[in-house]
Amino acid sequence: MTGANKGIGKQIAKELAGHGFTVLVGSRKLENGEAAAKEIGELAHAIQLDVTNEKSIAAAAERVRKDFGRLDVLVNNAGIVGEFPPGTSFQDRLKFHAPSQAPLNYIRSVYETNVFGVIAVTQAMLPLLRESPAGRIVNVGSSSGSLTLNANPVFPYRNIFGAAYSPSKTALAATTLAFAIELEITNIKVNVVCPGYVATELNDFQGFRTVEQGAKQAVKMALIGPDGPTGTFTDEDGTLPW
Ligand code: NAP
Repeated sequence: MTGANKGIGKQIAKELAGHGFTVLVGSRKLENGEAAAKEIGELAHAIQLDVTNEKSIAAAAERVRKDFGRLDVLVNNAGIVGEFPPGTSFQDRLKFHAPSQAPLNYIRSVYETNVFGVIAVTQAMLPLLRESPAGRIVNVGSSSGSLTLNANPVFPYRNIFGAAYSPSKTALAATTLAFAIELEITNIKVNVVCPGYVATELNDFQGFRTVEQGAKQAVKMALIGPDGPTGTFTDEDGTLPW
């Protein structure tokens, strides 16, 4: 799991351990992963994993191979809305949001984690998922990236569709579908889920859902059986429009 040291990721890790999985708690700072693993219990082990760092990804994949020989479930949960320079005023934050003004390096950094990080980790872990009798990949996306919803002028949240975060989640949905199509002929199923608006550090705890509610759909898609779906975009209430 990536980004499993806090927020929705930690809750997904907790629940997968509750289902008897050995869980590798990916964290870019190892000590944060260790603290989360301790909280989760005996089945959890911390693993250093920064999704924007090739060496970190390669070392994590190597460790999984050496210690476990295979990977049954990959949850690509790590995600960012973007880091602003300290002291950035609210007015300036809005500029980061506006496609006409957002600094390119800011947009790139968000895509680096939310899209390219997922591709890099998935590529590195695929040989290990192929060793599993039933590999599952769950990507944590967002309905805020749905083009269908945001193209509708009456959609109430379309002002959230800005330069970086939401379109990065659109690209993540597209990436999920691309992997699902390529892997259709294998036992590996690839799906993207939306946790809903969950109170975490990502949104200064403004979300109205709990991490337990937010983790639910990701856990469900991690546990699907051989007849389960692949190439889907869902939340707890069902199918979401791409
Ligand atoms: P969060 O509490 O801020 O957790 C984000 C996690 O991602 C943290 O563990 C963070 O690690 C990790 N992370 C960030 N950059 C990373 C990198 N380069 N390498 C590895 N890990 C990295 O936010 P959250 O709300 O739980 O978000 C989890 C996922 O849900 C994200 O993909 C987010 O986009 C998605 N989501 C959230 C909401 C919501 O309302 N909260 C809604 C829709 C989708 P550090 O502790 O080191 O920063």
